[in-house]
Amino acid sequence: MRVPRQIPFLLALLLAVPSGADSLILFIGDGMGLEHMKLAQDAAGAPWTGFPHFAAVDPSSLCGIPDSPASGTAIATGHRTANRRIGMLEDGRAAASLAERARGMGFAVGIVTNDLLTGATPAAFYAHWGDRRDHKAIAAFLFRSGLDLFIGGGGRHLPRREARRAGYDYRTSLGPPLGPKALVVLDGGEMPFLMDDPVNGRLLPAVQAALDRLWGDGRPFFLMVESALIDHASHDNDAARLEVEMRGNVRTILSYLQEWVGRHPETALVATADHECGGFDAGARAFTDDHHTAEPVAVLSTRPLSGEMVQQWELHGCLLEILRARTPR
Ligand SMILES: [Zn+2]
Repeated sequence: MRVPRQIPFLLALLLAVPSGADSLILFIGDGMGLEHMKLAQDAAGAPWTGFPHFAAVDPSSLCGIPDSPASGTAIATGHRTANRRIGMLEDGRAAASLAERARGMGFAVGIVTNDLLTGATPAAFYAHWGDRRDHKAIAAFLFRSGLDLFIGGGGRHLPRREARRAGYDYRTSLGPPLGPKALVVLDGGEMPFLMDDPVNGRLLPAVQAALDRLWGDGRPFFLMVESALIDHASHDNDAARLEVEMRGNVRTILSYLQEWVGRHPETALVATADHECGGFDAGARAFTDDHHTAEPVAVLSTRPLSGEMVQQWELHGCLLEILRARTPR
């Protein structure tokens, strides 16, 4: 259902509250299959039950079994592509991403991940390149993206001098409050598994800082949050680390986002995965594979998602619809 554009505008005027509503938060669990999600449940329930709308989508890429570049590209651009390609079609053409479209529509845009910021999933939202492994080329896209906020790992691919030349406030920690264009690098590589992290969790403070920055901006915003290490634990067939990731870096983050959206009800929250990894069986706590599978993945939403959604790339149109319904005028 479309919200008449005038209503939030008038309410904002009448109540003199920031107009940072009418926004979209997209959470992506990298490698998070339906069985993985069971690890985040206990007697107290699971965050999934807080989402009124649920679908399952087929993440197959043009190569069949998807990788994160192809799945990220499907979600970000609405196009099925070949593996390894980031924001790029099979014929080499670039495809505009949700983040780029949102920026063009006047939204503030942020990207948060516990992977490398030049990793495939975040890169699908700002880069257009044929090979996920070329971090130098992908970093160049990040610097000229013009997006407002990046928080994540991968400092070794993001030289401070180039970041500053591109106008980014380059930081290695979250405080004090972030400026208008901020690049926060919390690790030289990917962040450690939560089970091994001496800091005991960096993704939640990163999400909190991102929401403070984007809400305080006054414009509507689009925020993509990736919880990446589910995939890594699954490649390792490490059920113990996977469970800690699912509880600490999925359940905790989603619970926080649900609570935040509860306080900012004009903001939509959509949670999904790029693909399953490991052929995981939660009952047996066992894996049947050490790579990705083409099993369906979940789409959970606080808002109705329009149209038929069977293929993963079709999610893109639903997300774009949310942004378009809220385009500031
Ligand atoms: Zn993987």
